[in-house]
Amino acid sequence: MLKHLNYSFLLVFIALFVSSWGFYAHRQINRLAVFTLPPDMIGFYKKNIEYITEASVNPDRRRFAVVDEGPRHYIDIDHFGDSALYKMPRYWKEAVEKYGEDTLKAYGILPWHINVMYYRLRDAFMVKDPTKILSLSADLGHYLADAHVPLHTTENYNGQLTGQEGIHAFWESRLPELFASGYDFFVGRAEYLKNPLLAAWKAVENSNHQLDSVFMLEISLTEKFAEKKFSFEAKGKQTIKVYSVEFSAAYHDALSNMVEQRMRAAIKLIGDFWFTAWVDAGQPDIKALINYSPTEEELQMRRKELEEWKEQRVKIRQHDVEN
Ligand SMILES: [Zn+2]
Repeated sequence: MLKHLNYSFLLVFIALFVSSWGFYAHRQINRLAVFTLPPDMIGFYKKNIEYITEASVNPDRRRFAVVDEGPRHYIDIDHFGDSALYKMPRYWKEAVEKYGEDTLKAYGILPWHINVMYYRLRDAFMVKDPTKILSLSADLGHYLADAHVPLHTTENYNGQLTGQEGIHAFWESRLPELFASGYDFFVGRAEYLKNPLLAAWKAVENSNHQLDSVFMLEISLTEKFAEKKFSFEAKGKQTIKVYSVEFSAAYHDALSNMVEQRMRAAIKLIGDFWFTAWVDAGQPDIKALINYSPTEEELQMRRKELEEWKEQRVKIRQHDVEN
């Protein structure tokens, strides 16, 4: 029975979801970032925590519809050479002078886009626009979370150059889904960032430093586990090929606390960015926005976004079955 299974499901699934932390992790990260906020901010965010959580995957949803969206989620820094992590100009203008805008966009603009989002959020605080504050906070949370995934900082983002296809979703979706319930997510209070852009770059650097472990440990365990590397699990009415629980646990152990550490760092830095944008906007009184509720139009828009997203996911599944 199993040998008749169509593996294209897994491949299509991975191809479409090589995007960012899985839904589970993105939702958790945005949600938990709310609890880092100071008293002057936390009320408004807590009141809207369901939206901040749900909207955490909006930027991934847009990847299907917006052409420019893709490169905002990663930076293939190693494309620019061995020491590019340190040599790449941190500021957009200088980077464009060195490499040109088209090249930069081809290999990802994640840290610069985080900076753009930071300014947009600061401006939304300045005019005290609750709708924008919420949607930009959620979006910014998404991109910051992506910057904490090692595989978002390399051309070999899915192990496709080293025969490790599938490692992207394995690291960022399956591992958190299996093990995050045991993580400690107490990360303390949000702190002011002197330079948000450089803080985003630091996150990229720290992610990139983990890549050797991410790849090497998977290779050595693959040899050890041989055919026990994969197993089959029922997902809805389908059976899909997955990294076995045993292999996942061994890899997770070998990585030590890497996934937990990257999730914790993401939560903390999101809080720092939200807080910094608010401070730099002059600490507006957002307690006054606590009674904000979305207009019927906004609610409709949110429902529409959710419906579209569900449709896309159904289509993806159908596509898998048909192939
Ligand atoms: Zn993403």
